[in-house]
Amino acid sequence: MTGVQAEPRPLGDRQGGEPVLRLERVTKIYPGATPVVALAEATFTVRRGELVAIVGPSGSGKSTLLQVMGTLDRPTSGTVHIVGDDVARMSDRALAGLRASRIGFVFQQFFLAQHATALENVADGMLYSGARHRTRTRAAAAALERVGLGHRLHHRPPELSGGERQRVAIARALAGDPDIVLADEPTGNLDSASGNAIFALLRELNAEGATIIMITHDRELAARLPRRIEVLDGRVVADTRRDRP
Ligand code: ADP
Repeated sequence: MTGVQAEPRPLGDRQGGEPVLRLERVTKIYPGATPVVALAEATFTVRRGELVAIVGPSGSGKSTLLQVMGTLDRPTSGTVHIVGDDVARMSDRALAGLRASRIGFVFQQFFLAQHATALENVADGMLYSGARHRTRTRAAAAALERVGLGHRLHHRPPELSGGERQRVAIARALAGDPDIVLADEPTGNLDSASGNAIFALLRELNAEGATIIMITHDRELAARLPRRIEVLDGRVVADTRRDRP
């Protein structure tokens, strides 16, 4: 055999970006008569530009992980760093600021304001930024264009299909240019065609640079992503990458 055989590179080198999320031995125990260990020493790092599936069956700890990664809940022990900031050292107020500026959320149920237009839903998602109304509206329109909804700016959620509503939610998550997008079962409420289109959109946005963590119970969906973190009984039981999509 001729030619130079490439050495397999260590995992951490394959993704060039800086760490945007780092969990170290994160444990979450829900207290009660019978305390529940929902997360047990979860440790992993997500780097800028990655597209990661967090996959596991119902009750495995995915929602708890989402809460902790999204700084919506604090772990019982262990540390969470978001772009270098140790979340445990921050006040609730500072954390709310970090969450608003650095993390974009996409939920299975969309959570859009029903009486506001697509444009208003996205522009209102940037209220925290303190930007003027006109600036927010312009950024919102650009985000809606980016997700393929440039022709639906003035429609309200009831006038949109499920897939279109999820596009609005994705535009809202992206409009403020967050470091991380956390998508919780983003295709869970959609028929398979719309779900596939949303899945394709998330991949496209990732190819354009967005760092996306997608939570799913769907192993087939997860298998199509470049990296899978598998959770079972609150433990990370596998963390696998594919070199080629
Ligand atoms: P998943 O999202 O994978 O279905 P969860 O994170 O919701 O898993 O739940 C993990 C475990 O923690 C389950 O056993 C669940 O019953 C338990 N759990 C979740 N939330 C709470 C809570 N607020 N109080 C007590 N136990 C909880």
